Amino acid sequence: QKNKMNCIFCKIAKKEILAKIVFEGNDILAFDDIEPKAKIHVLIISKKHISSVVDLKLEDRKMVAEIFLAAQKIAREKRILKTGFRVLVNYGKDAGQTVNHLHFHLLGGEKLPFA
Ligand code: AMP
Ligand code: ZN
Repeated sequence: QKNKMNCIFCKIAKKEILAKIVFEGNDILAFDDIEPKAKIHVLIISKKHISSVVDLKLEDRKMVAEIFLAAQKIAREKRILKTGFRVLVNYGKDAGQTVNHLHFHLLGGEKLPFA
């Protein structure tokens, strides 16, 4: 959990920096990506600092379930259940991970590349 102190997503989770929040649950928070790569691009994060998807523990399973339920709820609210969406996680250099705090991308609202 190094870099937790300067973690931008921890700051968003603590409402220390502003984000366009679209959904909040007990252990998760969802907000618009600041640099959207699709018409709809929401990030769903754990409130707790977890550095990446490979740092998840079995004890985090309720939070991970909450993430997918939030994705479902946001997709319904944004009316893309019919047209479809993608939920993905980047890990490491080859995937282009830039923020070391667990986050899931929810992408939709148009035909997505890399099907
Ligand atoms: P990743 O490549 O999976 O690490 O993606 C990190 C994502 O976080 C990128 O899509 C960025 O545009 C997004 N991002 C970075 N800083 C912020 C911020 N302050 N508010 C919202 N989204 C952000
Ligand atoms: Zn963090």
